Amino acid sequence: MKKLLAISLAMFIFVLGFGITESFAESNELFIKSDILYSQTIPDPNSLIIDSETVTVNLDVLDSDTITITLFDKTFEATKDYVDFRSENNYAWTASGDWGVAVLTVIDSEIYGKIQTHDGVFIIEPTGLGLYAINEVDVNLGGDYHPDTDLDALSTAAQRAYLTVEEWKQIDTLQNSYVHTRDYRPNTVTIDVVVGYTQLTADEIGERKIKTKIQRSIDTANHANQALKLPVKLVLMDTEKVRGYEEKSLIALDRIALGDNSERDLNRLRALSVNADVMILLTYPGDTKSEIEKYGCGAASQILAQSHDLSFAVIAYPCLDGVTMGHEIGHLQGAAHNKDYIRFGDMSTKNPWSHFPHGHGFYSVKDQARTMMSYDCDSSETDGGERGKCTAWELWSDPNQPFFGTVTPTGTEKEN
Ligand SMILES: [Zn+2]
Repeated sequence: MKKLLAISLAMFIFVLGFGITESFAESNELFIKSDILYSQTIPDPNSLIIDSETVTVNLDVLDSDTITITLFDKTFEATKDYVDFRSENNYAWTASGDWGVAVLTVIDSEIYGKIQTHDGVFIIEPTGLGLYAINEVDVNLGGDYHPDTDLDALSTAAQRAYLTVEEWKQIDTLQNSYVHTRDYRPNTVTIDVVVGYTQLTADEIGERKIKTKIQRSIDTANHANQALKLPVKLVLMDTEKVRGYEEKSLIALDRIALGDNSERDLNRLRALSVNADVMILLTYPGDTKSEIEKYGCGAASQILAQSHDLSFAVIAYPCLDGVTMGHEIGHLQGAAHNKDYIRFGDMSTKNPWSHFPHGHGFYSVKDQARTMMSYDCDSSETDGGERGKCTAWELWSDPNQPFFGTVTPTGTEKEN
């Protein structure tokens, strides 16, 4: 009887094994669920990770135009938008569709991905031994990207750029001649970015992981430009550990420090950024929601950087999983928040509008979605009055192209 059982079991395993081999050969599944270390986190209101699963990855499928992605119990087909090769073993594979957006940064045969669907934001990272974690994360960190103190502290600082009459004329001409169906990418402008990170960030996270996350945040910001065929491409020029500098209690204070030449510990980062277009400092305020909310997610020098010296921003490391890199560099390029956000009263100085009619964020209450420049929907517009009702997507809006397939920004100033 025992022998029979053993034989049946062996046959069963054989058939099962055969079945698995068969389905592998035919499938374009990127993620294969792993039973080995499957773990499900208990949702913790103070944690950024909502849910987690363990998978292995079949990198070969990225040679195909269409791949199958399964995130927890949802499966969809993703068709490639483009692949941005930096080298054979360092590239970004991107896809988007009605289901959402996927940006997979591949470095040394490992994936550091961000996939956003209408169900949530999923971060894919290697955990060692060939396994990966798919973490559903909360990216609605406090809803806004600049704490009040940030704006108060800087209310007297330059918040407007001063352009010459000639420059304004040039911008007017460009805006009037913009054709949304045209592909402007042949004339792409490259924005070179240098990113420094504090010693504490390096100690807490590890430098390799920081660098991969930086690259992925650049890749997701670039996807937003590519999606609208915009002639802008961010290029990560260099990364650097900033020794000796300790982050302060508020991101506003770190922003002041980064703009203050007397902060000698930041001089090396400044020197490294001399030939770059944008300088970013990553800081580490902690890894819980409350710590990040207290500190702030990001702070740009100003809306439309007036000069090379003012083209910088500070970003809290945990916010790289969200849209903060694209958001802060967007500010430096001249984009502002959604124009209907009247939280700070005096919009002209504390929450300035963009210098450009099409330079504002956009949100859709119906779709519970917003572009990367928009603050969250007004609580009075949503049923529960909760924050985080409109999830941020790393996308720009366009008055002529639907955002989310159903919503087209109306008016002339909400889109960017
Ligand atoms: Zn902002």
